[in-house]
Amino acid sequence: MSDGTSKNILPRVIDPRRFCQQGVVLRGSVVVDELPRLTENNVVVDWMSADLAFALDEQRERVVKGSLAADVQVQCQRCLEAMPLVLDCKISLAVVWDEESSRKLAEAYDPWIVTTEDADLYAMLEEEVLLNLPFVAYHDFPCGPALVEQDIEQDKQSEKTNPFQMLQQLKDKMKQ
Ligand SMILES: [Zn+2]
Repeated sequence: MSDGTSKNILPRVIDPRRFCQQGVVLRGSVVVDELPRLTENNVVVDWMSADLAFALDEQRERVVKGSLAADVQVQCQRCLEAMPLVLDCKISLAVVWDEESSRKLAEAYDPWIVTTEDADLYAMLEEEVLLNLPFVAYHDFPCGPALVEQDIEQDKQSEKTNPFQMLQQLKDKMKQ
């Protein structure tokens, strides 16, 4: 399946349960223009690779352990320009059929809910990236000049929310 070189391209569709039975190790990179969920979330991936060991643990749980490394760009919340981030995350998942069985998992594992035989490996990796992004991201230098832009943006936003605030005030008055 894998010859162990990092030049491999990871397959998108895999049968994770069979991989666990067989103790497959996947190492390789991801085709970065096939990551729609990250694109939706304004995360630009320059490069991403993963190192995943599929196995059965002592409880015969189907588990996937390894790591994910990526160079991504997110939007700085201060200047709204692109901001590079280096991600290096640990992966520790158990393959489960449904929410129900995910609740019974040992704490060491996050559930990877796979409802069919095949799973979308890229979707799983996208999820891991999203989980590992900082809640808000700022450049680590004062990205000053564009602050003005942000203020304008905030003004626009508060204008947009005003009608709702007024509605809320009205509702509050009616309650009194
Ligand atoms: Zn910035």
